[in-house]
This record gives sequence, structure tokens and C-alpha cells, in this order.
Amino acid sequence: MDTLKLDHIGIAVETIDAALPIWEGILGLPLHGIEEVTEQKVKTAFMPIGESEIELLESTDPEGPVGKFIAAKGQGVHHLAFRVANIDAALTELKAKGVRLIDETPRYGAGGARIAFLHPKATGGVLVELCERK
Ligand code: ZN
Repeated sequence: MDTLKLDHIGIAVETIDAALPIWEGILGLPLHGIEEVTEQKVKTAFMPIGESEIELLESTDPEGPVGKFIAAKGQGVHHLAFRVANIDAALTELKAKGVRLIDETPRYGAGGARIAFLHPKATGGVLVELCERK
């Protein structure tokens, strides 16, 4: 698989407003925009740092994936996203290897990226996102 870099780290937060004093105020990361991803029932804030970004995830629905995550585990690191050159090829390769996936086909994430999640049972308990950006 052609894995290019760590694209971003997703952090589940109760609210973006309450998290900004930490990530912007204490750590000095610039806020580069907030976007709602209705399909994922989240509002995301992107904060670039070097070649990567911190992605704050605020649930917009308790039944959404981040809402359920926070209910079960509280705030904290939610997923690691790796940029791949070709997400269709990456998913085909993983399926051929029998790797368990949450998303068999890519869908659209924040910033127009094409994304897919691997099942955390396949990756030692870490939720891994693959992400292709043009
Ligand atoms: Zn992400």
C-alpha cells in the first residue's frame, strides 16, 4: 500500500468551542476552518501542524459515531488518518489480505477527502482512517 504520511489525528471533543483554548490557546495551533460532515454526524475543526493536522470532532448527534465514542470512552484520541496515494487500490489490497474494514468503499470526509475506516479489531484497537486528497 502506498502510504504517504500521517494526514491527521482525530480528537473527539465535547465541543469545539471548549477545546479551542487547549489546541489554539495553549498549543498555538491555528484554526483553519470548521466544517460539518452531516453523513458522519460531526462538526470538524482543522488545525494544521507541520505536514499534518489535528482534527477536532464534535458530535452533532448522540447516535453518531463520535457521540457513541464519547458516551463510551469520553473525550480523547479517536483515530489516526494516513494519507494514501490511491484509496481504491488500498482498499482492494486490504480486502485481498482479508483485513476487516468498516468502509468497503470510500466515502467523502471533511475537506473533500475520500476516506475509509479500517476496523479497530484489525489494527490492535486503533481506529485507522485512510484518506486520499487531490
Ligand atoms: Zn479523520
